[in-house]
Amino acid sequence: MERLAFPVSIVEFQHRFAGEQACLDYLAASRWPQGFACPACGGGTAWVLARRHLRECAACGRQTSVTAGTIMDHTHLPLTLWFWAAYLVATHTPGISAVQLQRQLGISRYETAWYLLHKLRRAMIAPERGLLTGEVEADEAFVGGRNSARRGGRDRTGKALVAVAVEVRGTGSGRVRLQALPAADRDTLLGFVQATIAPAAIVHTDGWSGYGYLAGAGYDHRPVNPALPPRRPEADLAPGAPGDLQPQDLDRRHPSRHLGQAPAGLPR
Ligand SMILES: [Zn+2]
Repeated sequence: MERLAFPVSIVEFQHRFAGEQACLDYLAASRWPQGFACPACGGGTAWVLARRHLRECAACGRQTSVTAGTIMDHTHLPLTLWFWAAYLVATHTPGISAVQLQRQLGISRYETAWYLLHKLRRAMIAPERGLLTGEVEADEAFVGGRNSARRGGRDRTGKALVAVAVEVRGTGSGRVRLQALPAADRDTLLGFVQATIAPAAIVHTDGWSGYGYLAGAGYDHRPVNPALPPRRPEADLAPGAPGDLQPQDLDRRHPSRHLGQAPAGLPR
C-alpha cells in the first residue's frame, strides 16, 4: 500500500480525520492511489455502498471492502477510534500502554484498548522497513531458558543464537534488528549485517573473527578490541562466559550501553 502524507501535528490530525468519512477516504486513497480498480475485472468505476467500507464495481458488481487486508478489516469499532489509537501509538515515546490508551481515548473497556494496541503494534513493524544507518553496534548471543535436563552447563541444547544490530545514538539507542541465526560463521554474520545495516555504515563489533568480512563488504568495521583472541560462539563455553548470554544477562554484558533499556518504539 502506498503511503500517503500523514499529519504530523495533533491539530492537523484532528482537522484531517474529523469523522468516519474522512478516515474512509484516506484508506481508499491509500489503497487505490490511481483511483478505484476492481480486483476482479479491473474496472475503474465503483459505487460507494451505504454499508460501511464497501465499494461495488460498476462493471461486474464485485464488492470490495476498503479495509480489507488492513488491521481494521471487519472491525466494529469506529475508524476514527482506530486512527486516533494509531496516532497515539505511533507518536507516544517511549511507548503507550493499554491503560494510557484507554484513558486518552475514553474507551470504556480495557479489553478494547488492549486489542487496539496489540493490533497496531504488530502492524507497525513495516515489512519494507529500512536498513540501519550511521553508527551501528552488532553482536550475537545465545539466548534461552535454563534446562535442568541438559547435560551440564556446556550443552547448547535448546538455546538459540540471536544476532542483534542496534543503532548508536549518543548515549541511547536507535532502531534495533534481531534475527535468529543458524551459526556465527563469517557468511552467516555478513548476511545478517547486509540484511539489516546500510552499506558504508560504521559497524562496531567485538573481536570475533566471524565479522572478518565486513570491511571487505564496504562497511566501516570497527572491532572493539581486535587484539582479543577470537572466541568461538559455537564451541563449548561455560555459562556466564562471553557469548553465552541468558536474556537477563543482556544488561550486564554492556552495563553502560543500550541493551539494558528497551529501545524506543518497541513493544513492551
Ligand atoms: Zn469488477
